[in-house]
Amino acid sequence: MSWHVLGAGSLGGLWAARLFRGGEPVRLILRDRTRLAQYRAGGGLRLTEGDTTSLYPLPAEAPEAGNSIRRLILACKSYDAEEAIASVAARLEPDAEILLLQNGLGSQDAVAARVPRARCLRASTTEGAFRETDFHVVAAGAGQTWIGDQLGTQAPPPWLDTLTALGFTLRWTDDIDARLWRKLAINCAINPLTVLHRCRNGELRQHASEVADLCSELAALLEAMGLAPAAQGLQQEVEAVITATANNRSSMLQDVERGQRTEVSYLLGHALPIAQRLRLPVPQLEALHQRLRARLEERGLPVD
Ligand code: NAP
Repeated sequence: MSWHVLGAGSLGGLWAARLFRGGEPVRLILRDRTRLAQYRAGGGLRLTEGDTTSLYPLPAEAPEAGNSIRRLILACKSYDAEEAIASVAARLEPDAEILLLQNGLGSQDAVAARVPRARCLRASTTEGAFRETDFHVVAAGAGQTWIGDQLGTQAPPPWLDTLTALGFTLRWTDDIDARLWRKLAINCAINPLTVLHRCRNGELRQHASEVADLCSELAALLEAMGLAPAAQGLQQEVEAVITATANNRSSMLQDVERGQRTEVSYLLGHALPIAQRLRLPVPQLEALHQRLRARLEERGLPVD
């Protein structure tokens, strides 16, 4: 049974190359025929791990290709996910499984609504990868990936073991949304501040009280949503992440520096309307969102 990986960027490239290397049948789905021609001209997908760069001649196709899709890894950014799934929806088999690698929250529901018959699995990953150039991905740090169903009631798919044997560090969870919310909260406490202070994660130690205020509002929001366990020890974990990734630039800062759209709508932009609905005052988070939007506007970037 073949895998399809939609999006040959950082994470998609990493996943696809590992599947291919492990002998799994896998096909890339690229945006359009222009991208497909560019990919083919390069002879395949390059993956750098440590000092080694390998070229993997993975087959690739456009969204409108004729073959059907049984297992799909959706590896585009959150803001592209709905349009991307729509472009292949007609090709999905009735019992298709889709693994959603998007960070933040909001895009997963939008995708699931577009393909109600498919089993949509959500992932939360700490793996790191970046694009050196088009179709050349650099693995930037091992991590683990939690996977679960939105409803948390179904059994893990049998291919979880196959992927684990290929070197993926995967964990099944019955509460994937709590994990995604915890990660969203950590991202909200760190990423926007790194953009506003134009700093690496570690420099946020100089803004400890700002970080603490945000953590306290984020923890209150998680509790108000009935996710008390995801709120526990949030500030300590944020501080630990800041220390462990002191030398890193957050993904949001990298997006801004590259002049790319951020995923803010799926992080702060997803959390704030929920706080409003719950009538929970979150003035620090609101102010952070306003400042971030102003900074994005200043840089000529989309504010959503
Ligand atoms: P990325 O490097 O920008 O790759 C996204 C890829 O999706 C690009 O190759 C893009 O194609 C492709 N794409 C977009 N729309 C498409 C469409 N309609 N059809 C086909 N391909 C399409 O992004 P990423 O870093 O892999 O991030 C993907 C998601 O994983 C994000 O939500 C991110 O937050 C999350 N994540 C990433 C990392 C990481 O280390 N990179 C870690 C944790 C979570 P083009 O090249 O043509 O634009």
